[in-house]
This record gives sequence, C-alpha cells and structure tokens, in this order.
Amino acid sequence: MSRPKVLLIYTGGTIGMVADARSGALQAVNLDHLEEQVPELLHMGIALETVAFGTPIDSSDMHPEHWVRIASIIGERYADFDGFVVLHGSDTMAYTASALSFLLENLAKPVILTGSQLPLGTIRTDGKENLLTAIEIAAAKENGKPMVAEVAVYFEYSLYRGNRTVKVHAERFEAFRSPNWPVLAEAGTHIRYDRSALLPARNGPLKVHAHMDNGVGVISLFPGIRAGAVRAQLADPGLKAAVLQTFGSGNGPTDADFLKALHQARERGIVLVNVTQCVGGRVEQGRYQTSRALAEMGVVSGQDLTTEAAITKLMFLLGQGMAAEDVMQRMGTPLCGELSLP
Ligand code: ASP
Repeated sequence: MSRPKVLLIYTGGTIGMVADARSGALQAVNLDHLEEQVPELLHMGIALETVAFGTPIDSSDMHPEHWVRIASIIGERYADFDGFVVLHGSDTMAYTASALSFLLENLAKPVILTGSQLPLGTIRTDGKENLLTAIEIAAAKENGKPMVAEVAVYFEYSLYRGNRTVKVHAERFEAFRSPNWPVLAEAGTHIRYDRSALLPARNGPLKVHAHMDNGVGVISLFPGIRAGAVRAQLADPGLKAAVLQTFGSGNGPTDADFLKALHQARERGIVLVNVTQCVGGRVEQGRYQTSRALAEMGVVSGQDLTTEAAITKLMFLLGQGMAAEDVMQRMGTPLCGELSLP
C-alpha cells in the first residue's frame, strides 16, 4: 500500500522558528531540512511535501488575500494529497481557519491548521507534538475515507472545528477552545475522534472561492458607548456590513440615539449581525427588551457564531457580490458547521 501524502503549507509564525546555535536569535526554519528539527518525521510512514510563503509572516500580518492564497494552493494540489497541514501563527489562526472553511466549498479532505506557543527549535517546544499529530490527523483514514473532512485546528492534544475556534490564552500551550462545539478529537495514547461532532464528507467537487470583501467592521458595545462614536464608525464609506458584539444573549443599550445610529445604517443597506461578547452561548434577539429593537430594525441574529466566523463569513458572502438581503439570509444559515440553529 502506498504511503499517505500530506502537503505542509508554511505561512509563518512561531512554530517555524529555531534559535541560532551561536547567537540564540530566532530565525525561520529551513523547511527543506525540517527533519533535522523533527527527526520523527522520517519514521511516520507519511510522504510529506512542503510549500512555503516566500516570506513567512507573523499571523498579525495576515490579510484576506493570504487566505485566498492558502485556499488556492490547496485547490491546485487537492487531487495529489490525502490531507493538508497549514503551519500558522496562533494569533489569528481562528480567523484563517474560519475563512478557509468558507473558501473551500465541498471540502472532503482534512485541512489542519497548527502552530505553537514556543518555537520549534526550543527545548520545551509545543510545536513538535502539534506538528506530528496534525500530520497524523491529516493522513488518517477509515475504510479508505478521510477521518476528517473539514478545516480544523489542532493544538495541545485537541482537534477543534476551525470556524468554531477562538484563541483564549496568550501563553498557555492550551491556547484554543471551541466553546460552542465539542472537541473533534483528543490525542492521548490514541487519537480518539468524536464521530458525532465531525462534519460529514461533502458530495460534489471542491469549489475554491477566490474573493473576500473586507468592507466589514466590528462594533463592540460597552456601557457608556457614545452614539456619536457608533455613528462615525458606521459612516465609513467602504462599510457594507458590521458585526455588533453585544451583551449576554444579544442585548444592547436602549438609548434612542444609539438605536437611531444603527437604524440609519440599516436604512442605508448596511448589514448588521449580532454576536455575543460572551465566550460561549447564543444570541436570542427578543428574549429581553434590550434586544427587541435590534430584531425589529432587521439586525441578523448571529446565533452562536464566533466573532471570527461572523467577520470572515461576511467577507466571504460580500466577496460573492451578493445583495444585502441575500447576505442577511445566509448569515443565519449554516454553511459548513459554523453555527447551529436552536
Ligand atoms: N505572533 C505569533 C503569530 O501569530 C504567535 C504565534 O506564532 O503563535 O504569528
């Protein structure tokens, strides 16, 4: 039987760093000699190929164009590989994972993002385990079919649905969580998959989308927020949609000026999507008086979407050139496991 083939796509981030033997300064690892850092790669029984961004970037410099680039690399090499591992800085990994889940329509193979909190070339690195297990998951099959047929994030012994992840810690190795969706797999002595949590494989050919529209904003509410500041944000001429990060189950101030600013934006055709500031749980517009006006003016309930998924889904839908009404309708409909309806 031939060895499974995995394509490693290196975009940058801490995982790709090693300390110079003499100066101790961090520098990018030479991917062609990755096995010098991780000799275990030679004994996995997996055929690995690597492709790297010309200049590796810190994930804070990620841009929608990079997401499109990663998606197109996967699209071009899709038939040749059993799975894909994207090495990526952890800071914006949840955004990239969410974006890829929308850009890769009908995905039927694993796309696993991973990274690390400590560089690969340091003694206590978490990068080695993350890398090796991500590759193993990307190659895993059952009855000849991929175990995972979706975009996922692997970090510190857990596999998460990509478009449900949030980065929750700046230092701990356990940096990610998916508060509104169960862990897809846990790696201990065995990798245990939760089949009921995994997305079923899609039928139909992979469709790789190539457009994201970043005419999107985020308005994070806080007690005392000034209506004028909200109005100024919504007056941005390039704005087509905004994510409202609200309190609790989707609530906000009932202040007339604040509501008027939102209402005027709605009248100009700006799509508004309500997501909660809470780490977990869902928006239920109308449950409290303080969210009724939002529902009445046509703010879309983001249900249990993360902010990361809401932003990237808006960019994706707007990138398809959709009219506001269609964007609103699709924002409340699951496309690839990013939200669940009550
Ligand atoms: N700042 C880094 C990045 O996101 C941190 C990391 O690699 O995890 O690119």
